[in-house]
Parts: sequence; structure tokens; C-alpha cells
Amino acid sequence: MSKLDCVVKEIADEMRQRPDRGAVADYIAELAHIDPKAFGLAVIDADGELACGGDCDTSFSIQSISKVFTLTLALGKVGDRLWQRVGREPSGSPFNSIVQLERERGIPRNPFINAGAIAVTDVILSGHQPREALGEILRFMQFLADDPSITIDSAVAASEDRTGFRNRALANYMKSFGVLENPVDFILGVYFHHCAIAMSCRQLALAGRFLAHQGRNPSTGLSVVQPERARRINAIMLTCGHYDGSGEFAYRVGLPGKSGVGGGILAIAPGKASVAVWSPGLDASGNSHLGRIALEALTNRMGWSIFGG
Ligand code: GLU
Repeated sequence: MSKLDCVVKEIADEMRQRPDRGAVADYIAELAHIDPKAFGLAVIDADGELACGGDCDTSFSIQSISKVFTLTLALGKVGDRLWQRVGREPSGSPFNSIVQLERERGIPRNPFINAGAIAVTDVILSGHQPREALGEILRFMQFLADDPSITIDSAVAASEDRTGFRNRALANYMKSFGVLENPVDFILGVYFHHCAIAMSCRQLALAGRFLAHQGRNPSTGLSVVQPERARRINAIMLTCGHYDGSGEFAYRVGLPGKSGVGGGILAIAPGKASVAVWSPGLDASGNSHLGRIALEALTNRMGWSIFGG
């Protein structure tokens, strides 16, 4: 067994035994049923070695992790013009906060808080029907993970639609400032559905590989984005990927990462590995509690923090 394999198995065992698991998100009713004892970890290194631990083949709702991929698509579509519609500063506020939007005239702080991701979804939607935009996002995920079986969990999307009052408020508020081009219902329909994409840790780690290797999948040689763009997406993941817990994540884990309220985290060790972890219980900032602890253990044991040490 390689060192990576041993470390991943060790961490999965340790996490299974921990009693502290955080609280499963219940504002999306479908997510409230998920077993808080689930835990999965998948790591794929530069040589394509895949190390898996726990429930690494169980699909979960990727939720806000999808925002890394919608950001990639929107940048591909409009390039740096995207930054006229959304900022790239940490918000220091919860994922669904509305407070900064009034002061900043409807321009969301960054593409990873809900308001920012809704603005990014609007960019992808322009010139398309919602169904086509959603198809483009789903096909992108399938292509990156090299797995056409990846789908959207429509029960999760419908459940979020029923209780999406805050996201509706955010979108209507931005619309009132003229920041969104498309009808709010269309944008939210696409947004709720891309958040409801279901993937396993294994699939997610594969999908994130281009970010670890300067925009290219090292196994296929296919380029997804230019190196400069991959570097910048990683920078935004580091500073904004965990909402108001981004500082703590950088301090403890030391990798660019993006969390979702489904309990998943995608983390990137540049030049080294793409990592996906899943544990459904969340901490007070809405980030996976054990996911973060597992990633801290992984970066410590593998020496992968981008800050050295
Ligand atoms: N779909 C979720 C929402 O809009 C995403 C939140 C998250 O994963 O952080 O509330």
C-alpha cells in the first residue's frame, strides 16, 4: 500500500469513530434525511493514483461545490468581464447573507456566496433556455469526471425550490439593481438544479483535477482552462470557498477548497492532488465539520499545505 493509501484509510477509520459530527442542513428538507454517520474521502494524485476511504462511492448533493464549476464556465463564456458583475473579495458573512448587497449596489462580494453564484448562473443562462444552460453545466461535470452517469437529484432541487425564500430575496434584490439579465425564476431554476447535482467523492476528486494541474487533466492531457485561470480560481477558493469560515479553513488546512451544505468539500493541493471529502454534519458556518478535520489531518500527514511546514 502506498503512503497516500495508508493515510486515507487511517483518516477514514479515525473519522468513523468520532462522536462529534456537526448538524445536517435541514433548511433543504431532502438533505435533513441524510445519515450523519456517512463519511467518504477520495484523493487522486498527479500520477493518477486514486486513494479512497469510507463511503467514497456514495453520491451526495454537491450543493455549493457546483459553484467552482459554474464559475469556470462563466469565465469561459465572458472572460474577465465577469468581474463587472461579481466581486472577488471574501465576504466575512454567511453564505446566504443579504446585508452587503444594499451597500454594494447589488454586486455580490464573490462568486461563491449564494448571491454571487446566482449572478454567475445568470451569465451562463444568457442566450439559452434554462434547460440548455443546465445541460451545459451537467455535461461539463460528466466530462470532467469522465462519467456520463452523473445526474441531478430532482427531489433535492424541488425541495430547495419550496424553501428558497432567501435565494429568491437575493435574486430579486439584485434584479432591482439591474445586475441580473434573465427572469429571476429562470435563473433560480438553473441555480437550484446545479446545486442538486449528485456526485460521489471519487467523481468529485476526478472533476477537480484540472485545478490541481494548471488547468489540465494530466491523465488525458486535455486542457480545461489556461494555467493562469486555474491559479485564479484556486485563489478565490482559498479566500472565499468556506464563507465566513474561509480564514479558519486556510489556517487549519492550508489548501484552496470549496464546501457545500450537503457536507462535501473539494480541496486542491496544487501540483499534487485533487481531494474530495464528504461528511454531512455541518459546523456553525455551514461547512462540513468532519470534512474539515479530515482535510487538516490529510494535509498535515502528507505535507501538502500550500504554506509549507
Ligand atoms: N443550494 C444551497 C443554497 O442556495 C447552497 C448553499 C451551500 O451549499 O452552501 O442555500
